[in-house]
Amino acid sequence: MLPYPFPGPFDYRVPETIDPHPGDIVLVPLNGRETVGVVWDARSGDAVPDRKLKPVAAVLEAPAMGASLRRFVDWVAAYTLSPPGEVMAMALRINALRPDFSPFGWRRAEPLPDLRLTEARRRVLAALADGDPRSTAELVRAAGTGPGVVRGMANAGLLVPAPLPLARAFADPDPAHPGPALSPEQQAAAAALREAVAGAFSVTLLDGVTGSGKTEVYLEAIAACLGRGRQALVLLPEIALSSQWLDRFARRFGVAPAVWHSDLTARTRRLTWRAVAAGGAPVVVGARSALFLPFPDLGLVVVDEEHETAFKQEEGVVYHARDMAVVRARLCEAPAVLVSATPSLETVANVEAGRYRRLTLPHRHGGARLPAIVAVDLRETPPERGKFLAPPLTAALEQTFARGEQAMLFLNRRGYAPLTLCRACGHRMECPNCTAWLVEHRIRRQLACHHCGHAEPIPPTCPHCGAEHSLTPVGPGVERITEEAMERFPDARRLVMASDTMPGPHAAAAAARAIEAREVDLIIGTQIVAKGWHFPHLTLVGVVDADLGLGGGDLRAAERTVQLLHQVAGRAGRAEAPGRVLLQTFSPEHPVMRALVSGSFSQFMEQEAALRRPGHWPPYGRLAALIVSADAAEEADATARALGRAAPSGDGITVLGPAPAPLALLRGRHRRRLLLKTRRDMAVQPLLRSWLAQVPVMRGTRVDVDVDPVSFL
Ligand code: ADP
Ligand code: ZN
Repeated sequence: MLPYPFPGPFDYRVPETIDPHPGDIVLVPLNGRETVGVVWDARSGDAVPDRKLKPVAAVLEAPAMGASLRRFVDWVAAYTLSPPGEVMAMALRINALRPDFSPFGWRRAEPLPDLRLTEARRRVLAALADGDPRSTAELVRAAGTGPGVVRGMANAGLLVPAPLPLARAFADPDPAHPGPALSPEQQAAAAALREAVAGAFSVTLLDGVTGSGKTEVYLEAIAACLGRGRQALVLLPEIALSSQWLDRFARRFGVAPAVWHSDLTARTRRLTWRAVAAGGAPVVVGARSALFLPFPDLGLVVVDEEHETAFKQEEGVVYHARDMAVVRARLCEAPAVLVSATPSLETVANVEAGRYRRLTLPHRHGGARLPAIVAVDLRETPPERGKFLAPPLTAALEQTFARGEQAMLFLNRRGYAPLTLCRACGHRMECPNCTAWLVEHRIRRQLACHHCGHAEPIPPTCPHCGAEHSLTPVGPGVERITEEAMERFPDARRLVMASDTMPGPHAAAAAARAIEAREVDLIIGTQIVAKGWHFPHLTLVGVVDADLGLGGGDLRAAERTVQLLHQVAGRAGRAEAPGRVLLQTFSPEHPVMRALVSGSFSQFMEQEAALRRPGHWPPYGRLAALIVSADAAEEADATARALGRAAPSGDGITVLGPAPAPLALLRGRHRRRLLLKTRRDMAVQPLLRSWLAQVPVMRGTRVDVDVDPVSFL
């Protein structure tokens, strides 16, 4: 199998001098060059006579790719209709097979010369605190500074050169290191998970309210897995925002786990990959791509916040990491644990069908109560003109600050305003490349597209009618809410948490520390604040626009809004002081608001199920999307229409479209969508394969396949 998008593996002849086995990593000739590949299987067919085959050049000295990972690659490729070589490339990491040619890095001088340190220099030293040498690139990244700072520190004698290791050894977490004393409820769940870890494949949903100690409980499952000498994998939706999780792990096991995500330097990634392959990384915590790491003996897969849409990979190989985690676990004969306070309807349906087991933690740990959630009806108590915080919310903020407690305002929108409109002619500022409005970012003095990255200065006059001073921001983003909070509560110390104000893991970790140290009174943030943060002094959460996620034709809009807002609400009142949550909404009677206010999710999920079941919508049926895109609208239309004509039909099969995608123009490409829906007992892949085989696709036109779509844009 070669790491390229070919439809399958290639045949090669084995010369007598070498003896490759399935899984071995080999060098083979391809188009006059040598390329790395993996021996996938013994030869299957005999289409090409032996003498015509090219010989394998060499077997590399690298850990072989195990059978369970090869079967996983095959499985993901078949399920997502991706070329298997493309999936295999995610598992192979060719870079990790190359020797390092820059083996020197830096460590701190001992003793340190007595010099005054700038903040940047201090951060570089902090990044070296564990004694392991690091490369310049790693230090630059970890300290958020430039290579000049590192060079300067070397010249000043603060850093000394040190050889870099070729594989990172991760210290062994100690499963016997004492953890917290678990409550009886937590103990029961932990015992059930330990039992699962002792068995073969199983899937367990760990369903517990926010703050119930789900993490502490599944750390016990990890301890049990380590005790059996197998590796554990934990998938987190946003690993860059997980500093608190990492601290907690270190407290429980005495050492840090191996971390895997796209923000790592190439070198760290290489070292980590090698360590995993060599069995030297007992616990890996990572983003979805960690599923493709070469664990020799994976004994447990945990998916935390399993309902999160961040687990869906939308580019390249389009797959859902939660679902593929279950497949990976099955192929390794290991248990999978899915964790959430608001499990997805998919997972709930699997529990109800008896495929997954459910463990529940119905109470918050330590007697903390769940926050009281109330809806603020914006029709009855509207904010002042041009403002966005209604009187009940500002009053609650005032009370919270007066008590010396912390508050959080949540609005899932970056920037200052989502729309800029000309008051003279009604012109709306739109992205030239996408069907989308430009979002004002006042701090950067720009209008920006959140889909393609296009940005332009805010024009002084309307580009349509030329009127001066007529462009007006419409609606709020977090920057505008921050401005309003600043006017109203000038003394409150504010912190904005959004992906553009907190670039990278270090900024997020610093923000978390500032909040824990009570250096912040008011947090204003986008969905970043909904993650698993534990801020004991935070007692008020205000949701600025609870209706925001409900528009649009998304199948899961209601479910997702409930999950997101419940997660946000779950940040309040996690310690002794009780929490409260105010939801600003124009429709307090909406089932989503009712579910949040009453806290009865099971009832809401039953309603959702009742809506989806009759039409065979997921999880009671299967969906796959075809997205046609081309530079010219006519070309996209031609292919989309041809697909429409060739659409499969029959009992239990429905095809919707072709129709312009909601993002009909994205990065300059015209997009059309078709949706295939089938009964649950049918497989969409054979239908898709024969469908696609009938329609020739013109050069420059693409047809992307999305099985189990999460985004309908
Ligand atoms: P969840 O993941 O369910 O939201 P956490 O595992 O984050 O809950 O637990 C919430 C807080 O309570 C954390 O600070 C955690 O350390 C603490 N906690 C949970 N269980 C215990 C326990 N048995 N003893 C001490 N602290 C606990
Ligand atoms: Zn754009």
